[in-house]
Parts: sequence; C-alpha cells; structure tokens
Amino acid sequence: MEVQVSVWVNSRLWEIVGNPTIRNVSDRAMTDSSQVALLGLDRAELTSFVESLGEPAYRGQQLRDAVYRQRVASVEEISTLSQQLRGTLTEKGVAVGLPRIAQKFVSEDGTVRYLIEMGDGQTVETVWMPEGDGGEAGDGSEAGEQAERFVDLNPTGAEALLSEEKPIAALKRCATQNLTDQTQNQKQQQNSDQGQEQNSDLRQRQRRTQRQNQGRSTICISSQVGCAVDCQFCLTALLGVKRNLTAGEIVGQVCAVLKDQQVSPPEDRINLVFMGMGEPFLNYDNFVKAARLLVEEVGIAERRMTVSTAGIVPRIHDLGGEKIRPKLAISLNASNDALRTRLMPLNKKWNLEMLMAAAKAYPLRTREWITFEYVLLGGVNDGPENAREVVELLRGMRCKVNLIALNPGPGIEFTIPDAERVAEFQKILRESGVPAFVRRPRGRDIYAACGQLKRTVEIATAPAP
Ligand code: SF4
Repeated sequence: MEVQVSVWVNSRLWEIVGNPTIRNVSDRAMTDSSQVALLGLDRAELTSFVESLGEPAYRGQQLRDAVYRQRVASVEEISTLSQQLRGTLTEKGVAVGLPRIAQKFVSEDGTVRYLIEMGDGQTVETVWMPEGDGGEAGDGSEAGEQAERFVDLNPTGAEALLSEEKPIAALKRCATQNLTDQTQNQKQQQNSDQGQEQNSDLRQRQRRTQRQNQGRSTICISSQVGCAVDCQFCLTALLGVKRNLTAGEIVGQVCAVLKDQQVSPPEDRINLVFMGMGEPFLNYDNFVKAARLLVEEVGIAERRMTVSTAGIVPRIHDLGGEKIRPKLAISLNASNDALRTRLMPLNKKWNLEMLMAAAKAYPLRTREWITFEYVLLGGVNDGPENAREVVELLRGMRCKVNLIALNPGPGIEFTIPDAERVAEFQKILRESGVPAFVRRPRGRDIYAACGQLKRTVEIATAPAP
C-alpha cells in the first residue's frame, strides 16, 4: 500500500549555482518558493556547493557548523563567512531553512508539544520529553537497555524497578546524590592547596556528570504532514496525508527543538524517536537521509534513535541493509489477523505472517532488540487471550513489548483499558519470557501522547481528556 504523495524535488540550488555534478540532490527547500535551503544538505553537498561558487572547500565545513551545530536561523547570522559571501548567498535566494515554531504547548509533566511550520505553511507536530521514562519507552535510551539487562538477570526485581514512577525517582535520587558528592568534593578541593589547574579539571568533571545525569531527553519527530495509514485508534490518521517531509524538514524539527531547549548533542544526551505524525517507511528515502544527517551532522548517537513502522514489510527488509539505521520498533497492536485488519487496515496488504517473517529475518546488531508497540484498547485487544496470542507471535525473537494504554481524543471510538487488564496482560507476557513494559503516557493533557498528534489548529478548541 505505497502511498502516492507529492514529494517535492527541487534542485533549484544547483540551478542557481550551475553545478551539474550533483543534480541528484532531492531535498526541497523549506523556505518560501523563491528560496532554497542549506538544511538537508550533507557535508559533501555543502562542500560542492561552496566550491561551485568559487569558494574554498573549508567554507562547506563552516556552513555545516553554522546550520547543524550552531543552528543559526539565517545566512546573515553565519559569522564565519565574509560579509560579501553572505550577501552573495542572500542574493541567490539561499536560506538556512530552519522551520518556524508556530506554537508551543507545555504539559504539567514537562512535555512540550511544538507546532512547527514549514516554508509552504504546512505544519507538523514535534514533541520534547525532558526525561526518558526509565526503561519502558523503547526509545533507545540507556535506561531502557539497563532495564532489559535487569530483566534478564532478575525478573522479580525488574517488576519492582519498573513499576510506575519509580525509575524516574531513582534517577533523580541518583542525580541528587552525585551532585551532593560533587559539592563535597568541591569543598575539599577548595580547602586543599592543589592549584587552579585541578579546580578547572574538577569543574569540567562536574559539568560532564551533570550533563550525563540530566540527559535522558527524547524528541519525537514527524516524517509526513498527516498520515495515510489509517490506524483506527490514532488522531493523526483523521488528517489523511498531505505530503512527505523532506530530509531537511525532518532534521529541521530536531534543530528547532534543540535550539529552543538550549541543549546540544553530543554533550547533552538526546534520544530520538521517529514516532510522530506519519509513517516513516512511506517516506523512506527522506527518512534514511535524515537519520544520516542527524548522526553525522547534528551529532545524535545512532544507538539513541528508534524508528517505528506500522508494518511496511519491504522497507523493514531495506532498513536492515542500511549503513546508518535507527533501532526498529513495530507497531503491532493486535494479536491476530482479523483484529489487526480491523484496527490497522494495512494488515490486509502485509499480514502478521509476513510481518513476523520480516521481523525474524531482521539483522539485529549486538545488544539490539526489536521493540513491539501494543496500544491497549479497553475490551478490544487487551484480554488475556490476546496476550497469549502475542506470546506465540513473538516466540523465539529477541524483542521486547511496550504496552501503551490508549490515549483518548475526539473522534476516536475506543476507550482506555482497565488498569487490572493492563497489569494482567503484562504479567502473561513476562511470565512467558517476553520483556514487557507499561509505558507512561506523556503530555496527555496537551495532546502530545502517542496517537494524539494532530494539527493543533484543528483541536485547539477541543477539551483535553
Ligand atoms: S499510528 Fe502512526 S502509522 Fe498509524 S495512523 Fe497514526 S501516525 Fe499513521
């Protein structure tokens, strides 16, 4: 069910500068129709671009630093370029292409939902979660990996560790303790006579430790304007699909949020999930290029990225062959074909047998697990019989399951499952040896939780659940 959406292919940058060697650049500018964007070009493309202007190659590196590391908003802000070159770029209609934050909603739990506007006025939503959720998220976080190891070694202990709220509290305690230790160390250090150099080392160590402790933030990004997959429990599906995002627009969401939050990888530990609006595998080439740019240019660690698919089977095979690839998550949501087809109509094209075959054939790296996401809908797919069917589906796979209680919204016919049924579901999976985590909803009060992303303008007047 390949969705036909209009992918804008714009090689105007090369038309402007007349470089015939790199006409395969397929990113369209995120600026207005008279401009072209630097965001979305990789190091080699930026270098070719500046050379085509008669500038030395190192100018490409300067552009890369300004666009992806300093995240400047305009060419005029690129202070490493001469005034003359900045003028030339502006004359030629070259812009940075950083998308605009049109609106911002802050949840009581600290989650921030951004409405981000592209150059053509289309909007997508991007979510900032200031802390990972201690292992349940499948977001590529180190906390998640630690939890998995813990489950391997001690399933009973893991139950206690992963119960509601405890992981975050534990992380906070750990951070506080470390900071207390550091304060004591600092006092001792000041009292001793070891000189300025050692004090400087200490300050650097303190800053590093503080960053490590605070750094479990996650950004959830969109890959399309709207979505065509039509999952019945998802608000985004109600939009339909408007168009694919370019690689530059996907990366631009991250740059805009990093800038707004004043954080910067790799110093700040950032997790990234391709789980916002849209199906990344229906915009595969742009998604793959964006992932590469995020790793190589923005500096986000590959192991901290996860992409979620509703089950576009051919692209699961393709992802396994990519040199740079986020971890794989599959949105399962049903335990048999009849139920899955009802909840996710794309199951008619790629049924569970095909999906599980692709998952089993997926080339996992060392310590990599596939995550299966399962949205629990009250009385629909949350029974013990469903849990037992899931166990059979996943038998023999190196995987974990994230259980997500439905996040409700206007126009969604399903209800939130009972807490007891969620606990029972999780218990059945775990007792069968399948690591299963109940994911805490994030930003439900601002419609930022899973399946709730929809253009803000359309829901601004709806009451929060
Ligand atoms: S859950 Fe994901 S794939 Fe399904 S409709 Fe929503 S955005 Fe699209």
